[in-house]
Amino acid sequence: MSASFSDLEFVQFHPTVMYLGADSTGQQPLISEAVRGEGAFLVDGLPEEGGTRFMQGVHELADLAPRDVVAKAIMRRMLETGKPHMWLDARHLGAKFWERRFPTILGVCRSYGIDPATQLIPVAPACHYVSGGVRTDLHGRSDVPGLYATGEVACSGVHGANRLASNSLLEGLVFSRRIAQVLPDELRPWADPAVDTRTEGLVPGAARAEIQEVMSSRVGVLRNAPGLAEAAEMLDAIGTRSADLVDLNAWETTNLLTVAEALTEAARGREETRGSHWRDDFPDRNDATWAGHFDTVMNDGVAEIAFVAAPATDGVHA
Ligand SMILES: Cc1cc2nc3c(=O)[nH]c(=O)nc-3n(C[C@H](O)[C@H](O)[C@H](O)COP(=O)(O)OP(=O)(O)OC[C@H]3O[C@@H](n4cnc5c(N)ncnc54)[C@H](O)[C@@H]3O)c2cc1C
Repeated sequence: MSASFSDLEFVQFHPTVMYLGADSTGQQPLISEAVRGEGAFLVDGLPEEGGTRFMQGVHELADLAPRDVVAKAIMRRMLETGKPHMWLDARHLGAKFWERRFPTILGVCRSYGIDPATQLIPVAPACHYVSGGVRTDLHGRSDVPGLYATGEVACSGVHGANRLASNSLLEGLVFSRRIAQVLPDELRPWADPAVDTRTEGLVPGAARAEIQEVMSSRVGVLRNAPGLAEAAEMLDAIGTRSADLVDLNAWETTNLLTVAEALTEAARGREETRGSHWRDDFPDRNDATWAGHFDTVMNDGVAEIAFVAAPATDGVHA
């Protein structure tokens, strides 16, 4: 039996993550939105050399526009200019203000050789939170008897189509506690889980960077039908490659590919804009057709995806 996944297309992006270069891996430092709250602004180049404040005219709140709007505008400007990132100009705040108000961010920037009191900070949008995941009930039970999920890996439904700041830590605490409460009554010797022991059909671990590139450029902040179709094709092509070495890296990359394919299918299917899922070609929310969830079930290693309409009280309407 295989667990179901829901809402994979709802991925939240943080607009301003420090850009450390195309080869950087792992979690990148966040430049808090509070820095813009204190007067920093986004530019597409050094203002002294003709760089413009591109958020002006995009939204009435300019640099203080909602997170999704800013992430989208940065990405658009990156595509228009061909630059891998934009910049945050917070030089006018001055060294003393930086030291007092944002000592941690200042320290991180300096540790990467950028002094925000005298230099622009390179920033780009980055994946921040995945609202979808293993579908659970309100006590963390998945569809597989004995398999419970809590935290970011789970999709308990509490985030709807877009997580509000800080709710993920609360979700982890609440649902972990709920699982702990029901577990003593539910523990029993479960049937052995079906273990996938295949030694063939895994993609090479080296394909990971390629999958990441496909997802960032076509299934990220800005989505549209041609880009998503291209992504699906590229992921399909990666799936035809075979790993010479069956190791942890190959397994992880194969799993990433599975999730990437399911996420892309859900994003292709949802022809509307809702929560953290933005479609350039379908900019409006469409409750009449798309109030519901895309559910993915793995069948013999193949992801099968189906849309399930939700009752009007469901969180996805939020
Ligand atoms: C930069 C940033 C800032 C954030 N700020 C906030 C915030 O202010 N407030 C808020 O509520 N949320 C915030 N979030 C989101 C929040 O941090 C995450 O949703 C939360 O930490 C998820 O916790 P978790 O325990 O579910 O998963 P994780 O913290 O990802 O823990 C999963 C663990 O499982 C381990 N693991 C993975 N695979 C395996 C395996 N195969 N075998 C064994 N172990 C494995 C991993 O190493 C990891 O330790 C932020 C996220 C980011 C990226």
